[in-house]
Amino acid sequence: MMWRYYMPTAVFFGQGSVQKNSEALSEAGTKALLVTGKRSARVSGALHDVTKALTVQKMSYSLFDEVEENPSFETIRRAAMLMNREACDLVIAIGGGSPLDAGKAIAMLAANENLSIEQLYDDPDRWPAYSTIAVPTTSGTGSEVTQFAVLTDDEGNKSGISATRNFPVKAFLDPVYTTTMNEHVTISTALDALSHAVEGELINAGANPLVKSLASKAVATIKGTLSSVLSSPDDIQMRGELQYAAMLAGMVIAHTGTSVVHPAGYPLSVHKEIKHGLANSLFLVGVLRHVSRKEARRVSNAIEPFASIEELEAFLGSFGVYDLMPTITEEEARDWSAAVVNSSHYKRTPGDFDREFFENLYKRAGGK
Ligand code: NAP
Ligand code: ZN
Repeated sequence: MMWRYYMPTAVFFGQGSVQKNSEALSEAGTKALLVTGKRSARVSGALHDVTKALTVQKMSYSLFDEVEENPSFETIRRAAMLMNREACDLVIAIGGGSPLDAGKAIAMLAANENLSIEQLYDDPDRWPAYSTIAVPTTSGTGSEVTQFAVLTDDEGNKSGISATRNFPVKAFLDPVYTTTMNEHVTISTALDALSHAVEGELINAGANPLVKSLASKAVATIKGTLSSVLSSPDDIQMRGELQYAAMLAGMVIAHTGTSVVHPAGYPLSVHKEIKHGLANSLFLVGVLRHVSRKEARRVSNAIEPFASIEELEAFLGSFGVYDLMPTITEEEARDWSAAVVNSSHYKRTPGDFDREFFENLYKRAGGK
């Protein structure tokens, strides 16, 4: 068996990891642009810890705290201009996947002043980028260990830039920051991580044993801890397990990419305000059932240690996932299903899907 695995991010994991490693923050640049959403970086305490650590290291910084969910091209343009105006040479992104992905794109656009953001999508490994450090406050996307920056264009279409230079140079994971997530965000982000592990292993199908190990561990951990985290949201140990599982699932998709489940869910986040992880969860079982018709073993391997698709479906349903399916018009189903079959995810997902499958998925509340 021959395989390779690449993930260049230095990970600092554990309570107090930012404060205890302040020199590691300052080694990566001379002036930092801190990139955050509107509230969570402050509420979680992560912004406070980062600014304190930078002060200890006598490193100056500027702040951009306007990243919205499903970050837009417009936000990236404004922040990249600020980055250059302030002469920053490092991004420290603090928050959920939205600020982390925005931070990566800002670091890339700022380093390519003569390019438009649209051009960055064109052969992304060609372009230089400033370094990014990631400080996640959700336990979901794994963006702290991936090369993806998922953005929403000026027309409302979501898609990712995948570039090796997008891997954060360092990631600081402190479970304390995740304790301020409310129940809805905790569920949504944990189920996103679950989806990453399952989708990634669906694509991997055991070919890379490291990916298989990461995926199994992530699925088992989320299965075993999510309910406990919801009943004891301040339990740092349990929060840490969930955060660890989300990171492992990020390492899975860094290798495999995600499946059609992801682009199927994107329009629900942009147009129907369904959180990313919940949008994935709505479609995961329908996609798995379809693949399973021809490749049952591939699916049973991907969902392990869930014993069956039905058990996974009951798990997702226990968190209210299926109550969230919005009304989708015929026109939306038609346009969105066309976008799914044009995505890069479509090409790498096993199972011989066609456009009609996705149209039905949208119409049948996730194909349950
Ligand atoms: P998010 O969009 O970053 O944040 C969702 C909400 O949670 C926001 O209101 C945010 O507040 C809040 N929040 C975050 N951390 C919190 C905390 N500790 N306490 C209280 N509230 C908190 O959520 P996400 O699910 O982490 O990221 C989703 C995005 O990542 C999507 O755009 C998705 O496409 C992308 N994604 C990227 C990858 C990748 O590999 N790069 C993989 C999967 C998904 P604020 O707005 O105040 O921050
Ligand atoms: Zn995701």
